[in-house]
Amino acid sequence: MSIKLSKNLENIPPSATVTMTQLARELKNQGKDVVSLSAGEPDFDTPDHIKEAAIDAINRGETKYTAVDGIDELKEAIIKKFKNDNNLNFLKENISVAPGGKTIIYNAMMATLNPGDEVIIAAPYWVSYPDIVKLASGTPIIIKAKEENNFKISADDLEKNITKKTKWIIINSPSNPTGEVYSKAELTSLAKVIEKHPDLYILSDDIYEYLLYRGSEKFSTIAEIDPEVAKRTITMNGVSKAYSMTGWRIGYCAGPKNIIDAMRKLQSQSTSNPSSISQWAAVEALNGKKEFLKDWLLSFEERRDMVVGMINSANGLKCLKPKGAFYVYPSCNGIIGKKTPDGRIIKNDKDFAMSLLESKSISVVHGEAFGLSPYFRISYATSMKKLEVACNRIIEFCDELE
Ligand code: GLU
Repeated sequence: MSIKLSKNLENIPPSATVTMTQLARELKNQGKDVVSLSAGEPDFDTPDHIKEAAIDAINRGETKYTAVDGIDELKEAIIKKFKNDNNLNFLKENISVAPGGKTIIYNAMMATLNPGDEVIIAAPYWVSYPDIVKLASGTPIIIKAKEENNFKISADDLEKNITKKTKWIIINSPSNPTGEVYSKAELTSLAKVIEKHPDLYILSDDIYEYLLYRGSEKFSTIAEIDPEVAKRTITMNGVSKAYSMTGWRIGYCAGPKNIIDAMRKLQSQSTSNPSSISQWAAVEALNGKKEFLKDWLLSFEERRDMVVGMINSANGLKCLKPKGAFYVYPSCNGIIGKKTPDGRIIKNDKDFAMSLLESKSISVVHGEAFGLSPYFRISYATSMKKLEVACNRIIEFCDELE
């Protein structure tokens, strides 16, 4: 018997980042010597003081349902974080906590979109933005950013794409998949356009806020730049990337009370509260010491530099050196149309990623999934040793093409 699936679900593919990472995992389980550069997750262990806070929570019996959108202690820690880091002032009624940043975005879109509502998204984008919009019956409006503009859109690009139906714009800086960072001046010029459109809401995905490298200017988020725009902004963050807590599933946001109320109502009918134990761990992550981050940043920077150098030495590949997150987004334009030793033509970036996985056991994510081809995403959140092996195999793969 086959069941007819929901039209909204039928219209979207599975997440490419999750799929490629799972494929690499399965090949590894079969004994293949796979190096996975497809997972957007730091390889560092969650710091001990955070793990201990979770163990303490279990021992205290914090193992029951909590308030649907987060315990008071976590909301207080989040309010403090926004105040100290971003100079933003919120009350508890402005805060929502969910099982991961992805769920925050999902809740925001599901709670606010109606058929025909448009959401502006700059490509390359994180794979799930347009598909979450579609699941929520909205229409993604994609603005293709150019490599020569460091994959960023301008105020002009934004203005041209705003219509009467535009409900949201999603901003993500530092960016997944490019690692590029919007400067304060660039965000200010976007904010000036947004100011002119009082019905336009902004979702600022700041999940990579702390992952900025030397030479980058200080982190800015759009809500701190413009108080008018701030009234219409959901500022989203989480503990996954900065504290290496991807598996704990804690994302959070701050924004207008009416949207936060609607997100709570939705969450009360879906996941209910995020894990009570993870919430207590997140309280410690936000309030606790952060010294470990300095070492992590130095490691990431060293890895980025090596990867960018090696990829640029590969035949037919070209790679910018971004200042944030832990991704690079090289162009594979120079190898499109070439043939592998077994006679397969690389027609697009998906062929490139699949051939690389099959012949060299390196998993990357094809640019098509991020809305801009021909590129691919490398996550360099893995050890120097593995990165070196992986880049050497990529160079070898490119050398063998005819
Ligand atoms: N954000 C990470 C990535 O882009 C996690 C996987 C996902 O949920 O897409 O790889």
